Amino acid sequence: MNPIDKLTEYFKEFPGIGERQAKRFVYFLLHKNPTYVKELGDKIIDLKNTIHQCPSCFLFFQSKQDQLCDNCSNTKTDKTSLLIVEKDADYENIRRSKNYNGLYFILGGLVPIVTKDTPTFVRTKELLRNIDNQSNQNNLKEVIIALSLNPQGEHTDMYLRELLIPLKDKYDLNIVSLGRGLSTGTELEYSDSETIKNALRNRA
Ligand SMILES: [Zn+2]
Repeated sequence: MNPIDKLTEYFKEFPGIGERQAKRFVYFLLHKNPTYVKELGDKIIDLKNTIHQCPSCFLFFQSKQDQLCDNCSNTKTDKTSLLIVEKDADYENIRRSKNYNGLYFILGGLVPIVTKDTPTFVRTKELLRNIDNQSNQNNLKEVIIALSLNPQGEHTDMYLRELLIPLKDKYDLNIVSLGRGLSTGTELEYSDSETIKNALRNRA
């Protein structure tokens, strides 16, 4: 395979990028000066060396491997409440809104409606382990499922409620969803502070 096709294959793995767009990226790079291309390569390597995931909530942040993030390690964080979001961008938006002071868990994706098997990028095992740990160590009381209000988000919400039944019974947890305060089609990533505040207030 020639280098153009080879790099095209790499770009095709990016979310939402097809063959034609992937090839456009390759030609874009061919037209850029060598310094730009070198710096881009360095930045990508840098990213992998300096950004790691929090072992508890799975947030990507600048850290050493296995280091807890600021929110998980902060003594002021309300550790009786855990909020589940789909992705880092949702976490950042809710945190920026300053309406919630508890723990987070980043699920990594939504459960597709059509397939029977849960994809590996959805961290269900890690979620169960986390809730187990938080219940034992921090007297966790409430789990808030905070997913976007679209069919896949609602499907995942139901899926998680089902999944969490044994832990709910074991630790007497209150499991609620953010859905009520949101209108259909709401993406948490783009919701304003007021919307998030209302959704949290109306959780059920
Ligand atoms: Zn964390």
